[in-house]
Amino acid sequence: MEHLFKSWQIFLDDFRAAPHILFLSDYDGTLTPIVGRPRDAVLSQEVRDKLSALAQKPVFTVGIISGRSMEELRYMAAIEGIYYAGNHGLEIEGPALEYVSPDAELGQAMIKDLAGQLAAALEHIAGVIIEDKGLSLSVHYRLVSEEEQDAVAVIFKKITSSLVDAGKIKITSGKKVFEVRPPIDWDKGKAVASIRREIISLLKLERVLTVYLGDDTTDEDAFKVLRRPEGWSVYVGRENTSSAADYYLNSTDEVEEFLSRLLELR
Ligand SMILES: [Mg+2]
Repeated sequence: MEHLFKSWQIFLDDFRAAPHILFLSDYDGTLTPIVGRPRDAVLSQEVRDKLSALAQKPVFTVGIISGRSMEELRYMAAIEGIYYAGNHGLEIEGPALEYVSPDAELGQAMIKDLAGQLAAALEHIAGVIIEDKGLSLSVHYRLVSEEEQDAVAVIFKKITSSLVDAGKIKITSGKKVFEVRPPIDWDKGKAVASIRREIISLLKLERVLTVYLGDDTTDEDAFKVLRRPEGWSVYVGRENTSSAADYYLNSTDEVEEFLSRLLELR
């Protein structure tokens, strides 16, 4: 894993050789710093303006891929003319694409029921935030006291294990969050690949350069499908040798600098 700015010349070579650039990014922890309450992860106006300016350049297509619901992601990012992928890519919307996983839609009643069960079982622990995102759900415990975080994990496991064993849901854990998703063979990597396919056919190109930025477990699926010279995977955070990303940026501030550098190019 190399620092992206230390590899800038190599990036420029790939950038200049590409007819079009697909710039995709995770939201939380990548475009905004990690916060206790998901609603507080507000996108700064500077980053919003830069993403918006990038999207207006003909050579770029911009998208945000998040575990959040489509509705919330659109509300938080509030940028026109870009692609949005919500629920880890189970729903995708953009200028030339609209997709909702039909299998995930079928599981909505179960997700809702499970959110209710988890809310009741975790009610006595202060700081737990349960988000029913329609196609998936999240249990956030960043605001739970250190001593009680293990209890959250135990209760979460107790309630979800039979559904996991029956193959009805799959679980991933991220930064102080458990994610429950339908057991569909679909992830951020597949979402990246489908947006890329769409852009290639829409613009009638042979290839595009895809850049993907992310900071957490579910982003690894996207990192894995991207290799130079056509794919640049960028982990956001301190250098992390267990990540599949080839490059890293230390912080969301460096992500903003990356956006500034891209805006200066063409
Ligand atoms: Mg993230």
